[in-house]
Amino acid sequence: MNRYFYDFHIHSCLSPCADDDMTVNNIAGMAAIKGLNIIALTDHNSCANCPAFFKACKRQGVIPVAGMELTTAEEIHLLCLFPTLDSALSFDSEFFRYRAKIKNKPEIFGDQFILDENDEVTGTEELLLPPASALSLEDAAALVVSFGGFCWPAHIDRPSNGLIGVLGSFPETPAFSTVELSANAMGGEYAVELPDLGTRRVLKNSDAHHLWDISEPENSIMLDDEPYSGDLIRKRLFEYLKGAIS
Ligand SMILES: [Zn+2]
Ligand SMILES: [Zn+2]
Repeated sequence: MNRYFYDFHIHSCLSPCADDDMTVNNIAGMAAIKGLNIIALTDHNSCANCPAFFKACKRQGVIPVAGMELTTAEEIHLLCLFPTLDSALSFDSEFFRYRAKIKNKPEIFGDQFILDENDEVTGTEELLLPPASALSLEDAAALVVSFGGFCWPAHIDRPSNGLIGVLGSFPETPAFSTVELSANAMGGEYAVELPDLGTRRVLKNSDAHHLWDISEPENSIMLDDEPYSGDLIRKRLFEYLKGAIS
């Protein structure tokens, strides 16, 4: 077993609200400098920068995980991770059917750049990414699971787009075994008063939109990593996430 410092909630310049210098190489490089071992790219409603992100992370010796921060019909942010890049991209294609089809106005909302592994802009996402999709929380979680993924409600301590802020309490279904608190959680003036989290696992991620937001090596999980490979560690991560709380 080895300790893996993680940050599973990071936005690239594909998200309109993130800095344009949140390129895949800058993210991977900053994660390496900070001493993180495993990081996920979770842009709003898209996995389009995940292929470049995987290549950038490989250069830096950081283990990448493909993800998405999905906006449900209720405007709840759901953090979704996928066991492989391919499964994430398949999910992304399917999920496109449910996305809002509103054109982005970059001068108002920000740029939505698609990059290659050298941070070159290869395309622009024309539809505004963050708005609510047509999928309910329940249907979104089921769709993620059907692609082998794992999801949890993001930043539940935040009033906007957090599950507790929107619904007031945990729904009976989906029965989330994991929840996310913002990195700066607890005690904030605007923080939501949280119900008893019970046995739910708590992950703390940065939700970085700027390079300096990416987590310090403060949050970690223990993973069995022999014989070492990125694929094995992602597999172990999903066993850990889906398994009993420890
Ligand atoms: Zn969010
Ligand atoms: Zn986010």
